[in-house]
Amino acid sequence: MKINTIVLKVASRCNLNCSYCYVYNKGDETYKYKPKIFSQELIHILLQRVLDYMNKYKINLYTIVFHGGEPLLAGIEYYKNFIKIYESIFCTTDKTINFVMQTNGTLLNEEFTQSLFELDISIGISMDTTQATNSKYRVYHNNKSSYNEIKNGIDLCNKIIGNAGILSVINVDDTPFDAYSHIKSLKVNYANLLFPDENHDTIILNDTRGRIGKWLIEMFDLWFFDKDKNKPEIPLFSTLVKLIFAFPDGNDIMGKGFGGTMIIETNGDIETNDTLRVCKSGITKSNYNIKYHELESIENVALAELYYYAHHRLPQTCTECVLEDICAGGYLINRYSNERGFNNESVYCEDIAKLICHVQNIIVRETDDLDLEYINVNEVIDDIRNNKKIYHENNYLENF
Ligand code: SF4
Repeated sequence: MKINTIVLKVASRCNLNCSYCYVYNKGDETYKYKPKIFSQELIHILLQRVLDYMNKYKINLYTIVFHGGEPLLAGIEYYKNFIKIYESIFCTTDKTINFVMQTNGTLLNEEFTQSLFELDISIGISMDTTQATNSKYRVYHNNKSSYNEIKNGIDLCNKIIGNAGILSVINVDDTPFDAYSHIKSLKVNYANLLFPDENHDTIILNDTRGRIGKWLIEMFDLWFFDKDKNKPEIPLFSTLVKLIFAFPDGNDIMGKGFGGTMIIETNGDIETNDTLRVCKSGITKSNYNIKYHELESIENVALAELYYYAHHRLPQTCTECVLEDICAGGYLINRYSNERGFNNESVYCEDIAKLICHVQNIIVRETDDLDLEYINVNEVIDDIRNNKKIYHENNYLENF
C-alpha cells in the first residue's frame, strides 16, 4: 500500500446539519467523543509523520485535504499557523504537500478566501445540484437553508481565486436539465458528482435504483454535447471516458486504481475512509494514533487494506462482468450488506452498467475509434443478473 492523501479532520463539528451527512446523520456517533479541533501539538506530529512516510515510500508530492465537520470553523489563523509549521518542517527537503480544503463554503468571506488563496490552499465546496434540493437538505441546525451563503462562497472563489469547484451528491429529484443548468450558472470549473452513500440494506428506504442510471445518462448527454468551451469538467464522466479508451485512470468510484486515502481524526486516530461508517457504526475504528504510531500502521487494518484494494478484491459477479475493468465494483460503500459484508456488486450495479454502455456507444458513434465496439446493454444486464444468481462465498470480503 502506498497512500498519498490524508483527509484531515480539522474540526469534528459542523455549522450545518445536512440530512444525508455520513458524519452526523447516518447512525455513527463517534464524533461526540472527539476533540472539536485538531490541536497545535498534533499538527507538528502529523507533518513529521507525513515527511517520514514520504521519505520511506519515496513520494515527492503528498496531498492533505482539510476536512471536517466544517474546516472553516478553525478560523484563518489556524491555517496560517499550519502552513508556517509545514514550511519549517519541509523547508530543507525536496518534498511538497498540496493543500486542499473541502468546505461547505458558508463561512467564506473576502478575508478568508484571500488568505486561503495566499496560503496556496485550494478550495472545493460541497453543494447540492439545484437551489431547491440544497435548501431542502443542506440546512443549518435551525433548518434554515444555507444556499445563499454557499453561493456567496462560490462567487468569492471565482472573484478572488479565479476558479471554483463543487462536490454534489446525485439527487434524482432534480431533473438533469435543472441540475446541469444550475451547475453552469455557478460558473464553476468542475462539478464532481457522488453516488449516495447507500448500501444493500439502506437502499430499501430510498430506492433510486434505475432512476440514477437514467439520470446519469441524461446528465452525460447534456455535458458531452454541450459545445460551450467553458463548460465545467465533471470528473465522474471524464474519468469514465478515459477508462473506456483504456487509459490507466480511476478513482475510488471506478477503474482499477487504488483507494490511496487515509483519515486522521481530530484526536489523531488513523483510520480508513470515514464514509464507510455508514455501513456500520465504528467499522473504521483502528487502534492507531499519530501520537504513538507511524502512518504505515494503517496497513495492519483489514478494512483499510480492503479500501485500498477495493477495485481488485471483487465479488465473483464483478470478476465475471464484461465491464469489470471500467466499473470495478463501483464505490466500496455501495457494496456493503449486513449479510455478506462487501461480497456484493455495487447496489447501483445496473445503473452503472447502463451508464458505461451508453457512454461507450456514444463514443463509438461520435468518433472513429476502431478499437471500440458497440455494447448491447440488454445482453450485459442479462449476464450480470445470471451471474448474481449464484452465491460465491468469500471470507475476506465478508468478514466485516
Ligand atoms: S457493473 Fe455490476 S457486476 Fe459489473 S463490475 Fe460493476 S458492480 Fe460489478
